[in-house]
Amino acid sequence: MQNPLLNPEEKDPVIEESLRPSSLQEFVGQKKVIQNLSIFVQAAKKRGEALDHVILSGPPGLGKTTLAFIIAREMGVQIKPTTGPVLEKPGDLAGLLTNLEKGDVLFIDEIHRLNPVIEEYLYSAMEDYKLDIVIDSGPNARSVQIELNHFTLVGATTRKGLLTAPLRARFGIDMRLDYYDAELLQRIAHRTAGILNFGITDKGAYEIARRSRGTPRIVNKLLRRTRDFAQVDGLDAIDDAIADKALNALDVDKNGLDEMDIRILKAIIENYKGGPVGLGTLAVAVGEDKGTIEEVYEPFLIKEGFMQRTPKGRVATAQSYKYLGVEEDNENAD
Ligand code: ADP
Repeated sequence: MQNPLLNPEEKDPVIEESLRPSSLQEFVGQKKVIQNLSIFVQAAKKRGEALDHVILSGPPGLGKTTLAFIIAREMGVQIKPTTGPVLEKPGDLAGLLTNLEKGDVLFIDEIHRLNPVIEEYLYSAMEDYKLDIVIDSGPNARSVQIELNHFTLVGATTRKGLLTAPLRARFGIDMRLDYYDAELLQRIAHRTAGILNFGITDKGAYEIARRSRGTPRIVNKLLRRTRDFAQVDGLDAIDDAIADKALNALDVDKNGLDEMDIRILKAIIENYKGGPVGLGTLAVAVGEDKGTIEEVYEPFLIKEGFMQRTPKGRVATAQSYKYLGVEEDNENAD
């Protein structure tokens, strides 16, 4: 079973709320995204207009929701959050849209899971700020057009590949968040420890950072659990020794790999002699959706040097063999 501590989709909304950076300046990492967003926000404010619609994509736990809230705050507007699967009927969407004031942000998380009917309604809302709604049914059915205030739709998705072309085309600002390196996660660990009012050494922060799968949400979870171990041992700061002890006790892998990462590497090495193997074949071998492998697992494994993407398919690197303790076939070794 997957270790829930390493599952970036397991959220604790109350705790997360308290740990969220609230300005672009406070947001650690993703430098390019932040720099560009800052320009777009300043320009929209200067013009006195709503910010263009924004699509934020990337694996779970990297800060998409956080950024949506920061965008609203920096623009000085209200934000109404919802998620794709919650919007079942056109009326649900109409209710949200008609309550938006000029410039407000409508945040739709998991926007790739929108009902196609709702999506159709969004097109004209995004483009012309109009909503055509059919009221009544049967012989009394008639269409009414509702004028909306100019708003900003911020959509977040882990699976941008699943968005339809017409929806994608309606976002003027397209940003992808990528996994964080250990130094950035170390800064996030320091920041979180500061908010929790608990000490942490540089090495302690680094130990948590490198085992957090490139993901701020996991840093925060591991840090809170490590603090428990430190407190029980009578420590007032997390150092590398207690971090190592705690994370070993919690079965957190040294490199932050989770069960699916390991299954993917094993499949390439054991079933396909280290690759190259095509994405579709690999997906069947590990029993995971092809798109999820491509958009969620693979970017992390490539970033950490465990896998390479070649024109012929996915290849396991020497580091993967070493990690799994498997001898590299000479035929395949370079
Ligand atoms: P996503 O919407 O991409 O799943 P969230 O925005 O909910 O991710 O972020 C998850 C948690 O990680 C939040 O509690 C937030 O505090 C923290 N976090 C994310 N990105 C950063 C960052 N760049 N700096 C500091 N904390 C971050």
